[in-house]
Amino acid sequence: MSSAQKQFDLHWLTGQFRDPDKESDYRSSIKTRVRHESRLAWVLIAIVFGMFTITDYSLLGLTGEYYLLASMRAVVVSLCLVLALVLGRRGDYNRNRWLHLLPLLIVATGILLIVPLRPESLSSQVTAAAVAVLAFFLLIPNLLTVAALGCLYLSVGFIAAVMLFTGLSPAEIVRIVLLLIMANIVGYCALLRLEFLQRKQFALLHEERQQNRDLVAEIAHRKSLEAQLRMVAERDALTGLDSRSYFMKRAEGLLQRSCSEKTPFCLFMIDVDHFKSINDTWGHTRGDLILTKIAEVCAQSLRPTDVIGRFGGEEFIVGLPQTSPADAQVIAERLKMKVAELPEKEDMGDLNLSVTVGIAVAHDDDVDLEALITRADKMLYAGKREGRNRVIMCEQGR
Ligand code: GH3
Ligand code: MG
Ligand code: MG
Repeated sequence: MSSAQKQFDLHWLTGQFRDPDKESDYRSSIKTRVRHESRLAWVLIAIVFGMFTITDYSLLGLTGEYYLLASMRAVVVSLCLVLALVLGRRGDYNRNRWLHLLPLLIVATGILLIVPLRPESLSSQVTAAAVAVLAFFLLIPNLLTVAALGCLYLSVGFIAAVMLFTGLSPAEIVRIVLLLIMANIVGYCALLRLEFLQRKQFALLHEERQQNRDLVAEIAHRKSLEAQLRMVAERDALTGLDSRSYFMKRAEGLLQRSCSEKTPFCLFMIDVDHFKSINDTWGHTRGDLILTKIAEVCAQSLRPTDVIGRFGGEEFIVGLPQTSPADAQVIAERLKMKVAELPEKEDMGDLNLSVTVGIAVAHDDDVDLEALITRADKMLYAGKREGRNRVIMCEQGR
């Protein structure tokens, strides 16, 4: 059986969930309501039971039987009120289910005791017993098994009392039996239906909540996947700088803005000198570390408004908005110097770590990032040709 089917699997006779955990969950969810409703029901039943002292008086007068009946009713009413109080506080349907049976048995015993004390008013007692059966089923909330046991005790006890104390003919007794059977069936079926409906409603609500929780978890999972994908697309895995494509996107925006605001924009192409021989001498892992450290130093030498990315291999690219050619020269020189002083290279013997930087400057009418990159690249290779470890900017910014 699938878990969804198990959710709705109810016992045909008791209306309860076949799954004990589910039943326990359901009872826990209604325990406060059951406590309050039980208390109210027993106070009402006690009052109604007590009020019949008036009819006892009109039937019996101030006789010995009347006093006996009145005392019996007083005991039943007091016990019911005490139990209503106890049930209001401790009537946990899950743990103290059988506590709910106690007032049922007390009131049922009270009704049974009236038969020998007032045998001449049997017809009204039969009606009272049938109404009591219906009341037990319908007034006491959500306790089908308990109500059924109480009603069985009342019905069997009532028939026994009638047979013992009234001397009715078998045909009349059969009529009472049929009446009580009918009252029991009607009450039982009504409560069974209610138990079914309430549990189905609970199961549906539960299922809906579970689906909501699953949906929230799925959304969180998708959001985290999205963030991971964005991270992969936007970040370079080794250095943590912007990826080439993300850099292009950001730099494009900054360049457009500089052009529209007519402010200067510079671009650096940075290439590590003789990096191949570093790899060959110290290995790729060490080479990776050096690349990471160079990226760190470059990023630290820039302003928050600048953008830096890994263009590929051992090449980095920087976009500097609102930067004049003179300032760009100073920044590039500082960057070159910091790479040369990188502390990580100290335990690498006579390693001469340097970078060559090519600078291109954008002009008012220059909004093409690709063209700017090509110019910076040309400057970079000019620097390489001139012996590396230098900063080269195009003449007059061109
Ligand atoms: P040049 O001064 O002319 O730039 O010389 P170079 O050796 O730096 O240039 P070349 O293009 O000959 O070699 C670049 C080297 O960078 C080769 C390649 O193995 C290495 N490289 C590229 N990407 C990585 C990387 O992610 N990690 C490491 N360790 N090495 C890399
Ligand atoms: Mg290169
Ligand atoms: Mg190189």
